[in-house]
Amino acid sequence: MLSYRHSFHAGNHADVLKHIVLMLIIESLKQKEKGFYYLDTHAGVGQYRLLSQEAEKTGEFEEGIGRLWGKTDLPEEVARYIAIIKKLNYGGKELRYYAGSPLIAATMLRPQDRALLTELHPTDYPLLRNNFKEFENVTTKRDNGFQQLKATLPPKERRGLVLIDPPYELKEDYDLVVSAIEEGYKRFATGTYAIWYPVVLRQQVKRMIKGLEETGIRKILQIELAVRPDSAQRGMTASGMIVINPPWTLEAQMKKILPDLTRTLVPEGTGSWSVKWITPE
Ligand code: SAM
Repeated sequence: MLSYRHSFHAGNHADVLKHIVLMLIIESLKQKEKGFYYLDTHAGVGQYRLLSQEAEKTGEFEEGIGRLWGKTDLPEEVARYIAIIKKLNYGGKELRYYAGSPLIAATMLRPQDRALLTELHPTDYPLLRNNFKEFENVTTKRDNGFQQLKATLPPKERRGLVLIDPPYELKEDYDLVVSAIEEGYKRFATGTYAIWYPVVLRQQVKRMIKGLEETGIRKILQIELAVRPDSAQRGMTASGMIVINPPWTLEAQMKKILPDLTRTLVPEGTGSWSVKWITPE
């Protein structure tokens, strides 16, 4: 049933947006000395070879990270994200490797922080485990990511970030996100939750947002970057991040970055962006 493999999509425009938001949230958690917990419910394998058959087949990274690579006039926040990917490429000029969310997080963790990465795919999980075996404060588990909010929250640190990044190949994922958030929030209302979503059919996103509104949870920020207007045709036209309890700086940072990021990622001029509150404070 699990046919989605992130290796076909690694480094695309959706990953770029997701991973910049992820980096900014972790930077903000690190403003305090006290350790935090990072839960990545749908981890993927953590690291991708862009010159692999899968990545080259779709070429999606060329219209994502590929459009930022080598640029010297990026907003400072975007430049910091590129610096993380540069390091993974041994500082070289050629873009060969891309970091998944677990690796971006793991490279930013301090000794007092810890991460749990879960992945269900029978082929991807062993790769994930292998990629993180040297990281002392990172644990991997082959398990259902949605269940980890109930199982592992609240964290002993009482501070943390949960990234929920399902493939949405099953329509149920939209509802599972909402119920996982309800479970997590009941246990850990002060945590930050970041939900990635694709815009394939706008109606599905609207339904998920309605479900989130109905939970009564406050402080939900929605960040979106579209490469094309909504369409009834197949394919992803946009992607977004819904952040519950975002760091207070995130809204302004994204409003500052997104005009430039959208222009760079979508030179064709069909792109657009938005940052808005689903429910404010
Ligand atoms: N978060 C990753 C990143 O940013 O690099 C990408 C994750 S990818 C979009 C989604 C992953 O979820 C796939 O690797 C898929 O195998 C996995 N998956 C699907 N259903 C799952 C579930 N119920 N629990 C955990 N992992 C699941």
